[in-house]
Amino acid sequence: MAEVVVTDLVKKFGTETLAVDNISFTVAEGEFVTLLGPSGCGKTTTLRCIAGLEIPDDGEISIGGELFTSGSKGVCLPPEKRHLGMVFQSYAIWPHMSVAENVAYGLQAQGASRNEARGKVDKALELVGLSGLGGRNATKLSGGQQQRVSLARAVAYNPRVLLFDEPLSNLDAKLRERMRLELVNLVKELKMTALYVTHDQAEAMVMSDRIIIMKDGRIQQVGDPHSTYNEPTNSFVADFIGVTNIIEGSAEEKNSGGLLVDVPKLSAKILCGAGLDREIGKGAKVLVTVRPEYIELHAPDSDGANRLEGVVDKAVYLGQSWDCLIRVGDTDLRVHVRGDEPIEPGKRVTMYILPERCVVLKD
Ligand code: ATP
Repeated sequence: MAEVVVTDLVKKFGTETLAVDNISFTVAEGEFVTLLGPSGCGKTTTLRCIAGLEIPDDGEISIGGELFTSGSKGVCLPPEKRHLGMVFQSYAIWPHMSVAENVAYGLQAQGASRNEARGKVDKALELVGLSGLGGRNATKLSGGQQQRVSLARAVAYNPRVLLFDEPLSNLDAKLRERMRLELVNLVKELKMTALYVTHDQAEAMVMSDRIIIMKDGRIQQVGDPHSTYNEPTNSFVADFIGVTNIIEGSAEEKNSGGLLVDVPKLSAKILCGAGLDREIGKGAKVLVTVRPEYIELHAPDSDGANRLEGVVDKAVYLGQSWDCLIRVGDTDLRVHVRGDEPIEPGKRVTMYILPERCVVLKD
């Protein structure tokens, strides 16, 4: 199995669009990595450069130590010599072929004999839970089954790396949720290396060993789901992954508990325990983020930092928790409160923001 190494990759379309703006990342052997970001941020273009379907303007791509693309060395291996498996949103299934013929297509194109192909097709169909459906016309299957056919086709010839471009986007919400787990379990079972593209942050969180968050062709942050959620480095990542509050303030002193930030809009001082891996001078303007579930509706009795008074503006019951907007001065804070005790709009509340969950952002 292979390791993907992308170094200083650049891809432009015409003179106007810098789709991929000098990005570098790796995917380790057996790792499941996701490129996550909003529409147009360059995820698909990056994947297509790796597959050999786009020719980059600059940078290098190698897989398993073999150089696939290098602008400076004039190397660009054609797609069929890369031995990568691709699964697309559109399934890309041949409508005139049976399920088995669809899966066998790539194998035969690569020179496998009929017998050899048959064995591999049966194995691949079994892996994706479609045993016995090989003779069926591929277009007579449900969306979920068609996507399994394209997955079977991708894994059948044991590719070096599996590349996925929003493969679950056409499925309904329930099936999509189930397929996420099935897909990642299958990839892990086969011990394959996978690079997955999605704009769905929940999908990325559930499936990935690591997430690469992109915006405007550039990488914003790379990390495992836990660290990207709990320690976003900038306001884009904080806002894109999950729901959050972003608050402006100015730095005061640092102490053993973190950095004390003055937040005039909330008439409060907030002690921030995370995002402090850099020098922040006294008086510097900073942005602080805190997730709604890290603001509690009970505060210690003291008047210390991180204690806020507010009034419930809206409260929506979600089953396991309440999703509230709580007005503090002119600012609304989003707060999630566990339990089903009713929270009435207009109620005065005292809140406490957990210091260790307050993250100082880089920009
Ligand atoms: P989506 O989630 O919508 O698929 P994406 O993050 O995958 O978006 P890309 O498809 O990689 O984004 O597109 C990045 C940028 O490059 C966009 O501005 C897009 O319009 C542009 N682009 C992509 N392909 C082409 C092309 N063939 N010709 C011209 N511009 C393109």
